Amino acid sequence: MESYSVNLAYKSLAQGTSDTYHAAFAYIWNAKAFPSVLTTAWRVLVNRIPTREGLSRRGIQLNSIACVLCQIKEESCQHLFIECLYAKQVWSLCLKWLGILFVQHNDLKDHFVSFHIAQASSKQNLVLKGVWAAIVRCIWDQRNTILFKQGVVDVEEIFQMAQLKSWLWMKHRAYFHTYSFVDWLLNPSSCIVSIK
Ligand SMILES: [Zn+2]
Repeated sequence: MESYSVNLAYKSLAQGTSDTYHAAFAYIWNAKAFPSVLTTAWRVLVNRIPTREGLSRRGIQLNSIACVLCQIKEESCQHLFIECLYAKQVWSLCLKWLGILFVQHNDLKDHFVSFHIAQASSKQNLVLKGVWAAIVRCIWDQRNTILFKQGVVDVEEIFQMAQLKSWLWMKHRAYFHTYSFVDWLLNPSSCIVSIK
């Protein structure tokens, strides 16, 4: 089922950007992450997360529609999770950690669909998709902490929480028998490549 969905996703992607939509859907529900993390990532991909811009578009009066993280640009989904200077820093940390060369797309679905390693298997890439979902979830969590609990932006914290979240899922599913959390932090690619 998984490989069918992934093949379908690649075919859809090859047919043009409008099909990126279908590719993103095929991936998101097979990605390796906790259901709550995938649900948040799905809501982000379909622009159904209540960002300030989204709420304003629905006619809700707000004092500000500025991004909660940078306080500069309008808080759209695309801005908050990809274009915001803080989001960019989180993705940079993540890519450096994973050792992936990646063109950071401005479109959320392109960003998600392209987040993979060409040499990795379908299953291993679904683990990467799970990491993508964890990053998105942790950006959203911190945004809400800042907004509702007077937190401050901490890029390192967002990234580290995503590392932990993805690790907990893998441990929960017993993916790694010989690797520890420290291995995951220091050499994630070896851990991912060990997944059969
Ligand atoms: Zn911002």
